Amino acid sequence: MEPVEHDAGVRFNGFSENKELILSFLTLFIPASLLLASIFYAFSTQTEKYELQTTLIREESALDSIGELTSLLFEQKLSDLLVLAEGEVLRNYLHQPELKNWVSAAREFSLFARRKPKFFQIRYLDNTGMEVIRINSDGGTQEIIPQSEMQDKSERYYYKEAIKLEVGEIYMSPMDLNVEHGRIEQPIKPTIRFATPVADGYGEKRGLLIINYTSQELLQRIADIFTSLRGNAVMLNSRGYWLQGVADDRLWGFMYGSGETFATQKPDVWSAIENSDKGSFFTDEGVYIFKKAYPLVSHRLGTLENVDETVVPSSNRIQERYWIYLSHISNNLIADLTAKRMIVATVTYLLLFLVTGVISVLFAKNSVQKKVAFRKLQQYATTDDLTGLANRRELDKVALREFKRATRFSRHLSVLMMDLDHFKTVNDSYGHNVGDRVLKHVAGICLTAIRGQDFLARYGGEEFTILLPETDIENAALLAQRICDEIAAKAYQDGAQPIFITISIGVSEVEDSDDDVGELIYRADKALYEAKKRGRNRVVILTKGSFISHLAMVKD
Ligand code: GH3
Ligand code: MG
Ligand code: MG
Repeated sequence: MEPVEHDAGVRFNGFSENKELILSFLTLFIPASLLLASIFYAFSTQTEKYELQTTLIREESALDSIGELTSLLFEQKLSDLLVLAEGEVLRNYLHQPELKNWVSAAREFSLFARRKPKFFQIRYLDNTGMEVIRINSDGGTQEIIPQSEMQDKSERYYYKEAIKLEVGEIYMSPMDLNVEHGRIEQPIKPTIRFATPVADGYGEKRGLLIINYTSQELLQRIADIFTSLRGNAVMLNSRGYWLQGVADDRLWGFMYGSGETFATQKPDVWSAIENSDKGSFFTDEGVYIFKKAYPLVSHRLGTLENVDETVVPSSNRIQERYWIYLSHISNNLIADLTAKRMIVATVTYLLLFLVTGVISVLFAKNSVQKKVAFRKLQQYATTDDLTGLANRRELDKVALREFKRATRFSRHLSVLMMDLDHFKTVNDSYGHNVGDRVLKHVAGICLTAIRGQDFLARYGGEEFTILLPETDIENAALLAQRICDEIAAKAYQDGAQPIFITISIGVSEVEDSDDDVGELIYRADKALYEAKKRGRNRVVILTKGSFISHLAMVKD
């Protein structure tokens, strides 16, 4: 069995305030900072997801609102178209194609154009594609084109498409650039043509009413909304040509016979877009969000009072006429969005980390201070002020513990009782203060003589006790003799004067008949008394009922 290490008195087994402080700090700070770090980690991974999700939602709803905007605008154009096509004045002209009726129809068109500045042409074409009535409108001025200047439009695609329709059906051209006399009008004028067949009073199809609508302002509004988006947004037509969102020289490619489209440039993205009306998806280059807008979708037209549900454009034509609003958020942009939040989070984290550190230091200091105070109190209660050795009370406690241990486990336990010889003389000759220092000197010699497991205490006055666990009586006697010799040999040097001193020591060991620790101490005391009697400066052992001098023991 391992012997118990005792406080030897002045040493307080390795208690170091700094070590305690660091230990106490770490036990608080490490778990707290780990907790903080895991919260931070969870937060940072969530941040990226959250930022991306909110951006996607915002982007999708912005694209949706552009779609709504276009649909709303076209509703109005369509109702305008039908109002004119079904008007009384045009019908009169169809029944009586006299100049007078031509003039009133032309004037009605002209008046209409004045109120609708985005309609830059209103025309009535007959069934052969020849212009019959034509109003050119340019901002504030409307011009009724004389009959002599009418053009044949039978070769234009919009005539060919629209003339196939039934009365009441609506044709809407793709958005393109206006062409005058075979050349693209400059500056460019983005145009959509709305057309509907015109019938006479007998329901007979007689020609087409065509309105040219300039979508310049619409495109501008779309461009404005694009700037508020997070991503780079483009508007594409159904063939993948750019209508908005790229440099001017790449817009309207189909008008210039260009083969370069978004579809050829990013075939992967294009094929992902092709099969659905809206959505978002991730690629190596970031995330794409898109929305297709169908300006002619029937449920919208159904809300018009004067558009009959049954005469809306047939569904296959609706499907062809759409635009794509597409926003691309690059990986860099995603990183940028996240970075801002991450900077805030990191700063917060570092601050919290610091605060945790400070709080941990404060707590650690407090706890160590308490421990120090407690230990001091304990020290006061258990030690002797003069020598720093354990006091009598502590000795009693330790002696009892060691006695129990020794008897329970049949181990050796010896004790030395020591008393300075003629100490009164020292006090009388040199004074009490010198006497005190001599006591400390003796305590020092005893301390260096013993081992870690031995326990030295000041029994009282000029008496000392040493408990020797795991030590039999022979070895106890050897130690006693060594101490006795050393004290006699090492005079206390006070100033120039050496003070010689001797000590008497009684030795005893736990014996089978011992019932309590008092018997052990009593025997040692008796041996000490015997040592005094035999002349002092010696060791006497009391074992098995008889006194033995140390020398006698060694001889055995
Ligand atoms: P002996 O033991 O050899 O019979 O002689 P002694 O003179 O040592 O005997 P005694 O026990 O009668 O005297 C002990 C003296 O020790 C009495 C007291 O003045 C002194 N003493 C006890 N405690 C202290 C102390 O703390 N400081 C000092 N300076 N002297 C002390
Ligand atoms: Mg004494
Ligand atoms: Mg004495």
